[in-house]
Amino acid sequence: MDILQSMKFEEFDLAPEIIEAISYMGFETASPIQEKAIPAAIKGKDVLAVAQTGTGKTAAFTLPVLHNILQNKITGTSTLIITPTREIALQIDRQIQGFSYFLGINSLAIYGGGDADEWEQQKKALRDGVEVIVATPGKLLSHLGMNYAKTDKIQHLILDEADRMLDMGFLDDIKRIISKIPKKRQTLMFSATMPPKIEGLAKQILNEPEFISIAISKPAESVFQGVYLTYENQKTPLINHLISDQEEYKSILVFTSTKKKVNDIVRGLRNKNYRVEAISSDFEQSKREEIMTEFRANKIRVLVATDVISRGVDIPQIDLVFNYDAPGNAEEYVHRIGRTGRAGAEGVALTLINELDMEKFDAIEKLIEKKVYRAQMPDFIGEGPKWKVKVRRATKGKKPFRK
Ligand code: ADP
Ligand code: MG
Repeated sequence: MDILQSMKFEEFDLAPEIIEAISYMGFETASPIQEKAIPAAIKGKDVLAVAQTGTGKTAAFTLPVLHNILQNKITGTSTLIITPTREIALQIDRQIQGFSYFLGINSLAIYGGGDADEWEQQKKALRDGVEVIVATPGKLLSHLGMNYAKTDKIQHLILDEADRMLDMGFLDDIKRIISKIPKKRQTLMFSATMPPKIEGLAKQILNEPEFISIAISKPAESVFQGVYLTYENQKTPLINHLISDQEEYKSILVFTSTKKKVNDIVRGLRNKNYRVEAISSDFEQSKREEIMTEFRANKIRVLVATDVISRGVDIPQIDLVFNYDAPGNAEEYVHRIGRTGRAGAEGVALTLINELDMEKFDAIEKLIEKKVYRAQMPDFIGEGPKWKVKVRRATKGKKPFRK
């Protein structure tokens, strides 16, 4: 894992049970963000940490908090983790459960989309004072509005994917949640990027934080990036051509920015030899989980997704990512292609750019400071549009994309 330096978890001032739990998870050395954030958080400091997707932020905030709960024998709800989407909430909850097997610390994910039974279960856990709550803002507020949650003992507040939450318009919700928990607490704020509004929020809610920043967001070196200049109607035939006889790509994600396109893309990519499915924020929660489970288990080869899963969710071993269209900005691009080449594994990310998206992609290339390889269209598909952004000249690829 190239993001890792050689610091061992044993070198931290962590409780032996935590060290055991970490080795059970298969983590050997700490990632840079963990190396910096864990000691600061153990000391009880507020932390503002900025590091790109896939750098191990979850453990960077869960480990010190679990350590503190254990060390000080804290009972009742002491930790609140706020996160933008249910997928991320579930993923964090799963990681805590993994650690907690050794620790006897309970956690619960609270998110929308569930049924009445789930609501009752969440209500009971909040009333009983489950130690760690991992929640999306809206759903948590609905519970908090009814005054049965025991929030008076919360002493750790964690905001995960803070930039994303602000982008999604959760600022007011976050402030309302904060107004309902004790002022005297430790606050840890994690973000993939550091736009001014994050600085603004940090100033308001953090107390003399330790600021930790691990490089600027750039795609991992282990991801091969390519771009095809295509007309819109060439995109599906191109993807089919690239994947149909390439069996070594077992897990393929196709991202699109528009929900409307998802079904058309799925239909266009259907193939008798493998499963192609979609996931979008329109789906029921249970359906989304089912699809993600099957995708992780390699039962689904191609998953067509909107940006709902492009951030934070850990999908191990994606071999190939397609951007069916240009992501809105460089961060989104980095996050999308960050689904492949994780933990130092090799990955491939191919972006399909029509004539309307060229300016957008040019801006992305400037921000990531990299000229992405121009792959040549296969002959049978015909020529795509010419690159029309003045400053850069498209270099013709020597051969069509083949790994
Ligand atoms: P982020 O929140 O920064 O996007 P995650 O916390 O989701 O990153 O971690 C990304 C992946 O790296 C997960 O699969 C996680 O289990 C793994 N990981 C995190 N820390 C370590 C570590 N120290 N050693 C090995 N794997 C790790
Ligand atoms: Mg994360």
